[in-house]
Amino acid sequence: MLLKSINPATGEVIREYDEWQWSEIDAAMDEAVASFHQWRKVPISRRKDLLEALAAKVIEQIEGLALNMALEMGKPIKEAKAELEKCAWLCRYYAEHAETFLEQVHVPTEATSSYISFQPLGPVLAIMPWNFPFWQVFRFSIPAILAGNSVLLKHASNVPACAIAIDRLFSDAGFPYKVFQTLLISRRKVDRLIADRRIQAVTFTGSTPAGRMVGEQAGKSLKKTVMELGGSDPYIILADADLEKAADACVQARILNAGQSCISAKRFVVEEPTYDQFLDMVVARMKKVVMGDPTDSGTDLGPLARNNLRLDLEMQVNNSVEKGAELVLGGNAEDYPNAFYPPTVLSNVKPGMPAYHDELFGPVAVLIKAANQEEAICIANDTTFGLGAAVFTSDVEKGRYIAEFELDAGCCFVNDFVRSDPRLPFGGVKESGHGRELSVYGLREFVNIKTVVVK
Ligand code: NAP
Repeated sequence: MLLKSINPATGEVIREYDEWQWSEIDAAMDEAVASFHQWRKVPISRRKDLLEALAAKVIEQIEGLALNMALEMGKPIKEAKAELEKCAWLCRYYAEHAETFLEQVHVPTEATSSYISFQPLGPVLAIMPWNFPFWQVFRFSIPAILAGNSVLLKHASNVPACAIAIDRLFSDAGFPYKVFQTLLISRRKVDRLIADRRIQAVTFTGSTPAGRMVGEQAGKSLKKTVMELGGSDPYIILADADLEKAADACVQARILNAGQSCISAKRFVVEEPTYDQFLDMVVARMKKVVMGDPTDSGTDLGPLARNNLRLDLEMQVNNSVEKGAELVLGGNAEDYPNAFYPPTVLSNVKPGMPAYHDELFGPVAVLIKAANQEEAICIANDTTFGLGAAVFTSDVEKGRYIAEFELDAGCCFVNDFVRSDPRLPFGGVKESGHGRELSVYGLREFVNIKTVVVK
């Protein structure tokens, strides 16, 4: 099978890659085991230096790497650079906190000494999506590698050039022993890898249906997993909110990465008294979004990452309109070439419509009317997902209470859009997955939290 790098803006095949044979995959797994045994003995101070070197390499190569992303999955170049800068920040953050995060925790008992030690597990298989092709991989692998594990990456089939570039970055930074390896494989080979005794754990970022399948396989082999899955983040706009600022944040969060983010603002739940006013503000902002060539620094919105993703989105929008949603802006994908999908606004979205229940992975603002605050919270939680959520209100204490106690999601923000931050844990509840990435919590996912007791 061939893995194809296709420019979604033009449809041009950039390059084709042969999928690896089992003999190559087998050799990589052997190397991952060997590298783990050596890497785990490398002092933390050296691991930190290598993370710093990796951050420097990312910044040194930022122009070429960003262009790679823009060509391969359509991300606007300014966003691609921001993603890479964030990867470098992540490396520096873990380098700075390495000792603290990995230091033993002493617990007084009757024994002479009793403590908790954080030991690596071994080779971890990472199955990753294309939407943030660098960030998702770094977000998992930097803490996992810092903790002493080795990593095997199966990246999404449409971003092989990004996958190879990440592998090269680790070598360029001087990481030894193939601590990080990219495998060029399709999803059909994943089950056997998960079952292989050399793989100690699996991390998956992607859609909920695929996560279910990976989780099932990992469960059969009793492998530890972290699951970062889909989301349909609700943004509650209460009647007392600063509507201009809320509309700015909502549209920004919906347009970022052409709406193809797990924590994109996917449902705007608006209190009735200000619904019409807020709708007008969203439409005005969506009209100003500049769609075009992702390699152009003035572009806000590139194409979706693949033509079939545009077809899926068209179906979801059309089906919602057939069921009574009002198409206020856009929706006319047929007027644009290849994977481009225009900024779109759907109003009066109700239960029973795909736009109400499903994850819409594209630049489609979905507005749902709520009679009052209580109903807004019910609608926000009326989803199988639980990744992020936001609430906009001028009563900050009320917003904080709703965020902390009323919203069923892993990351809840007040008066701002949901975003990941190396310093804060990231992950979901319900069908958005389990486990956490980032901060000390992310690092502790792929370690043996070992109890040591000396009588
Ligand atoms: P996807 O289709 O689930 O693919 C993700 C990865 O899983 C790819 O590497 C894919 O490989 C692989 N895969 C797919 N089906 C598989 C299977 N049956 N067995 C093993 N591997 C399989 O998702 P996507 O379209 O790339 O990404 C979009 C989804 O990811 C959205 O739902 C989004 O919300 C979610 N996401 C979640 C987070 C988070 O942090 N929670 C972050 C980013 C994205 P192939 O490419 O070879 O099919």
